[in-house]
Amino acid sequence: KKFVYSFNEGSKDMKDLLGGKGANLAEMTKIGLPVPFGFTVTTEACNRYYEENQTIADDIVADIFEKLSDLEHVTGKQFGSVENPLLVSVRSGAKISMPGMMDTILNLGLNDNTVEGLAKLTENPRFAYDSYRRFIQMFGDVVMEIPKTKFDAIFDSKKEKEGCEFDVDLTTEHLQDIIVNYKKLVKEEMGRNFPQEPKDQLMEAVMAVFRSWNNERAILYRQLNDIPGSIGTAVNVQSMVFGNMGDTSGTGVAFTRNPANGEKKLFGEFLVNAQGEDVVAGIRTPQPIAEMAEAFPEVYKEFTRISELLEKHYTDMQDMEFTVERNKLFMLQTRNGKRTAAAAVKIAVDMEKEGLIDKKTAVTRLEPAMIDQLLHPKFDDAELAAAERLTKGLPASPGAATGKIYFNAADAVAAVENGNPAVLVRLETSPEDLAGMVAAEGILTARGGMTSHAAVVARGMGKCCVSGCAEIKVDEEAKTLTIGSDVFKEGDYISLDGTAGEVLKGQIKTVPPELSGDFGTIMQWADEIRTLKIRTNADNPRDAKQAVDFGAEGIGLCRTEHMFFEEERIPAVRRMILADSEEERREALSFLLPYQKSDFKGIYEAMGDRPVTIRLLDPPLHEFLPHTDEEIKQLSAQINVPYEKLAKKTEELHEFNPMLGHRGCRLAVTYPEIAEMQAEAIIMAAIEVRKEQGLDIVPEIMIPLVGLKKELADVKATVVQTVEKVMEREGVKFDYLIGTMIEIPRAALTADEIAEEAEFFSFGTNDLTQMTFGFSRDDTGQIIREYRDKGIFDDDPFQSIDQVGVGQLVKMAVEKGKATRPNIKLGICGEHGGDPKSIEFCHNIGLQYVSCSPFRVPIARLAAAQAAV
Ligand code: PEP
Ligand code: MG
Repeated sequence: KKFVYSFNEGSKDMKDLLGGKGANLAEMTKIGLPVPFGFTVTTEACNRYYEENQTIADDIVADIFEKLSDLEHVTGKQFGSVENPLLVSVRSGAKISMPGMMDTILNLGLNDNTVEGLAKLTENPRFAYDSYRRFIQMFGDVVMEIPKTKFDAIFDSKKEKEGCEFDVDLTTEHLQDIIVNYKKLVKEEMGRNFPQEPKDQLMEAVMAVFRSWNNERAILYRQLNDIPGSIGTAVNVQSMVFGNMGDTSGTGVAFTRNPANGEKKLFGEFLVNAQGEDVVAGIRTPQPIAEMAEAFPEVYKEFTRISELLEKHYTDMQDMEFTVERNKLFMLQTRNGKRTAAAAVKIAVDMEKEGLIDKKTAVTRLEPAMIDQLLHPKFDDAELAAAERLTKGLPASPGAATGKIYFNAADAVAAVENGNPAVLVRLETSPEDLAGMVAAEGILTARGGMTSHAAVVARGMGKCCVSGCAEIKVDEEAKTLTIGSDVFKEGDYISLDGTAGEVLKGQIKTVPPELSGDFGTIMQWADEIRTLKIRTNADNPRDAKQAVDFGAEGIGLCRTEHMFFEEERIPAVRRMILADSEEERREALSFLLPYQKSDFKGIYEAMGDRPVTIRLLDPPLHEFLPHTDEEIKQLSAQINVPYEKLAKKTEELHEFNPMLGHRGCRLAVTYPEIAEMQAEAIIMAAIEVRKEQGLDIVPEIMIPLVGLKKELADVKATVVQTVEKVMEREGVKFDYLIGTMIEIPRAALTADEIAEEAEFFSFGTNDLTQMTFGFSRDDTGQIIREYRDKGIFDDDPFQSIDQVGVGQLVKMAVEKGKATRPNIKLGICGEHGGDPKSIEFCHNIGLQYVSCSPFRVPIARLAAAQAAV
């Protein structure tokens, strides 16, 4: 088995094995682009490293050294040679790119001897010793895990001692002194010398990359992005080229189109006389790529040609890294570029129009979860116009954010947990800030360009970010932000306009987004492609309208319990629950009937001629009961029942396990009058809206939490009797459907019997997951987080359906249901109905619709289209 591939042995289709970076380096090599030669240690080697107790097996070591000798052959250089030393970079590269999460080592191969060789060869001793001190520093930090600050302290004190203002003022001798002290530091910290043998350096570096796969930041990033830990990372070993060889050298990153807004124009930055990480880390502020045309006219032309070629080759927007060494261009990386949702939409539509991709491909170019960004508010125009602009930075990631400022990730996280919207303000961000970036509404940094860590990560998360804001002073210690004469303290409000790159004073109102233009176009394509219908879960006209605006084609679940909580009604609801007799209960219900009828009318009107599924009352009764003594006293006065009696009754109704108790269809079995009232309201509302609006409403009445055919039959009989009675009384006749939820495992197991009574099934995968796993929906958040940390769960089964277990029940119920009733209507209304992976599953097993919350409707439309291509 092969664990190491030279760049000329792979291709872009080998991402699983070579990682994204490795596969693309191989592809670029294959199509003849100038790529410094190298090799890739596979992800399988990483997995073996972990299987074999964090060691590298001898056969893999042998493979690495074999490819190394090929590399020496191709470059004509040699590891450890003084005359012509081979130097390499070692970089991680998983299948899915994880920006800022993993580590890079440059200049590997340098030691006390080869550094002299490099000095002679380049006729530039200063460059050679600067490379060596950078290498020791990087290796010490990443491989040996010696705190970076200790290296910085040595470096800064030397600068100070010699009176050097800038790094470039340090002479060769100064750098040599620094190297001596760096090596002393290593000896002190590690109890051993800095490794001088390049092969040892290489093997230590490879293992460090493997180790970094499981560092905290990498694990957190994977969790946030649903990347399984089992895929492992590859390691790329590539011969070095130098961007820091003087003014004819440089390095940069560029996108073939603008990743913030999608504009078709080369977009990026470069730095003259600099090495790789300088740009990405945002330590020096780089120049826009267009200025490269002046600095390196020939190279710029070549780079433009290659970037166009790469975009056509991959038929997608590319994110490229390159280095210029003495006027010669080298490509170090290309990958499909990360982009904002707005950019993704524009690029997909533009590329279809350019004939680069077809509609089906265009639809797959949008991450469904990302379009969330487009559905959320922007600043109110008037308030924005009136707002005081404090300063401008780079528009690193679009959107609008208003919040209180915090100066480190932990404070931002704590503030958000306490219900305060936060804006994270930092000099520059690093991967350690990730949790704070996730929690914050927006991010503001003093340093760093459009491709700095803050910018890249914020865009990926769809979070508003203004970076490289040179005019602000951030004192992270004192927790102050100074802009001109304004001084802001922790907890003061500011606002960020990530689209314009502006920082604004105070709090600014936000407004809903626009859904036309390119976004409308791509959603229309999605609608043409998908076969699943998309309904929504809504229980009031406002949400129903919002969902229709977002493209919902019906209501899949109208939960009636929310309507019972309204202020005027809750006393009647409680009276109904606490009633001693059927008569008393009917009296309370008759008070509720007109309210329910008007609820349903509002919803029918909002939905027009789209289908509406209304579910009978479902929740545990205890949710409606008073809990504290205080509440019981209040209620006793309100409904005129003596306190003692009320307290006793409440006690009687107490349940230890309400989610498994008096709820769902059990309510209607034990108190049929509740179902009667609701059925009457549903039909009366339909009759009136049919008359008033001329709409052909066909109510779909849904009975929840059924586990037995007979219990469904019992409640159905109540409903049918009521409906027939009302229709006869009103002198009308029209169709209606009665169906059930499948949300108890027994219902799935006996779906063939249940289908004898049910005209439709709607899978309640929230309860079905709860009951199949025996995991409480409401109490197990922490446990599930720990299960995910330990890799027991890849996903939270309440968010993405557990296809193996719960999904099997759903599939079985679909088959059994169809066997009894071939034209049975099938849908899903649990939270999973808005989750792209679960939607794909629903498509594959033949459901006819998914139903999700209004804001997820566009996501579901897109995910359904992607499932169909
Ligand atoms: C379900 O259980 O999946 C469902 C949709 O019902 P609820 O969330 O109201 O229990
Ligand atoms: Mg349920």
